[in-house]
Amino acid sequence: MNCGLCDVPTGDRYLCGRDAAKLGARLADLPTLYAELVECLVPRRAGWGEIVSTKGAAGPRSPLDEDVLDEMSTGRMAAVVHAHRVSVQRVRWPHHSAPPASGLAADARWLAMELDWIAEHYPEAGDLAREVRTLEAQARRVVGDPVPQRKVVGQCIALVDDHGTVCGADITHKAGESRLTCRACRTVYEGQQSLLLLLHFQPKGVA
Ligand SMILES: [Zn+2]
Ligand SMILES: [Zn+2]
Repeated sequence: MNCGLCDVPTGDRYLCGRDAAKLGARLADLPTLYAELVECLVPRRAGWGEIVSTKGAAGPRSPLDEDVLDEMSTGRMAAVVHAHRVSVQRVRWPHHSAPPASGLAADARWLAMELDWIAEHYPEAGDLAREVRTLEAQARRVVGDPVPQRKVVGQCIALVDDHGTVCGADITHKAGESRLTCRACRTVYEGQQSLLLLLHFQPKGVA
């Protein structure tokens, strides 16, 4: 048999060792890439019809590729990964019911854990590897390569209800960003006033 991706002889495996290792690394990176991708894109109006970059022209991914944005924003990455999880599970345990939707990170982790079995027994291993490679390449064209490092700079101080509950999610920053956005509640901290306020209300012992 030959590797489903690079066609080298593999004995009785569907993926060669090199491509199996690469697939594992890509599956491990996908959730981070996806989170960064979401940060790069914001819907201009309701829905995903029009998408603008939040990061100005200095970003690594100009010019914007509308097709890539469209595919990503419609959740294609998560859909592709989930479809393969369903398919692997059906081949391996035909009597089990299909796994429920559990999100990109969980699906990618599950596939990575089953990688040895996939390389050896999953006839569509080559397709899986090829599709994940494409998704990763598309995401990196938008996000940049390597993925920019994020640093936790404090906790979100926004009130999220009428009872004075504070959001409290970690606020992260990466080099070049002039504003901070809470990934949990989407509050934006921008400008001296707002950043000083954020600093002032940090819980004790943090930041
Ligand atoms: Zn190969
Ligand atoms: Zn928040």
